[in-house]
Amino acid sequence: MKKIGLITSGGDAPGMNACIRAVVRTACAEHIEVLGFYRGYEGLVDDDHVKLTKSKVANIIHRGGTILKTARSERFMSDKGQQMAVTTIIKNQLDGLIVIGGDGSFRGALALSSHYPLPIVGCPGTIDNDLIGTDFTIGYDTAINNVVDAIDKIRDTAESHERIFVIEVMGRDAGLIALRSAIACGAEAILIPERKDDFEFLLEKKKSWRQTKKSRIIIVAEGDEHGGAMGIGNLLKKEWPDFDIRITILGHIQRGGNPTCMERVNASLMGYYAVKALQNGHANEMIGIINKQVCYTPFKEAVKHIENLNSDMLRILDVLSS
Ligand code: ATP
Repeated sequence: MKKIGLITSGGDAPGMNACIRAVVRTACAEHIEVLGFYRGYEGLVDDDHVKLTKSKVANIIHRGGTILKTARSERFMSDKGQQMAVTTIIKNQLDGLIVIGGDGSFRGALALSSHYPLPIVGCPGTIDNDLIGTDFTIGYDTAINNVVDAIDKIRDTAESHERIFVIEVMGRDAGLIALRSAIACGAEAILIPERKDDFEFLLEKKKSWRQTKKSRIIIVAEGDEHGGAMGIGNLLKKEWPDFDIRITILGHIQRGGNPTCMERVNASLMGYYAVKALQNGHANEMIGIINKQVCYTPFKEAVKHIENLNSDMLRILDVLSS
């Protein structure tokens, strides 16, 4: 293996830079050249790349975002775009490709490999943590810490003014950010796409709330079927006219900022193992870490959207918030 390509694709996630650095430094140690393509699959379609050296990845381990930029590439979704990416691969004589991204990015990798037999290894990079085959995806830990930090601040004002805050967090299809941050913040309830009866559950639960406590935190995943925090907040204003209900959408602040220590370490390990995996003949697999052990999951399995919410954690949230 002499030369590999590297992309970051889909939504940006803190820790992607740490992963890029690990890929480049590991490859350099093995005398493998790394070409970084800009804006995910867009860079492969256009052959827009930079040669990544040890010094090019200096001083990035602590930075959020991705130095390679990222994008959602419409052009790569077509046969023509994928053929253009193959032309880039052949022209640059790539022996392998590492894709840092989420399930969509791995679907893209599968599409690419159906056109050309290039070994591709994935590193799970998404704040949603919605992939099979790893305990934590790159970006998730930082995102939930950002959420906790913001909600702690909101709680101060919620308590002082005795208000109910309905707070929207990211998660179009998955409620994992909502669930974990709710436990960490002592929130009263969550509303998530995976549970269809959670609004009725909340109305029922309110009957057992202590009368003396007037401030409450309710966390809503953006993909909840009631229309996120706006939808839930407006419904609650009608149901509970005696309460002062405020709506806050945390938005993009969640995916920014310096990656946590855990993020940097996980991302570094995954980047290292991705290069080793290509060297050892792995193809069309995603690197993951489960119970501190590296593991390899075929893209076909990793992208299957299963509901991996831990029902114990839902129960525990319910008990602790009563
Ligand atoms: P996130 O979890 O942050 O959303 P993601 O990797 O799932 O990350 P997507 O936008 O779903 O983000 O996918 C990234 C890119 O992968 C898309 O913009 C597209 O270029 C490519 N892609 C996704 N699905 C396919 C597919 N079925 N065929 C070809 N390419 C695809």
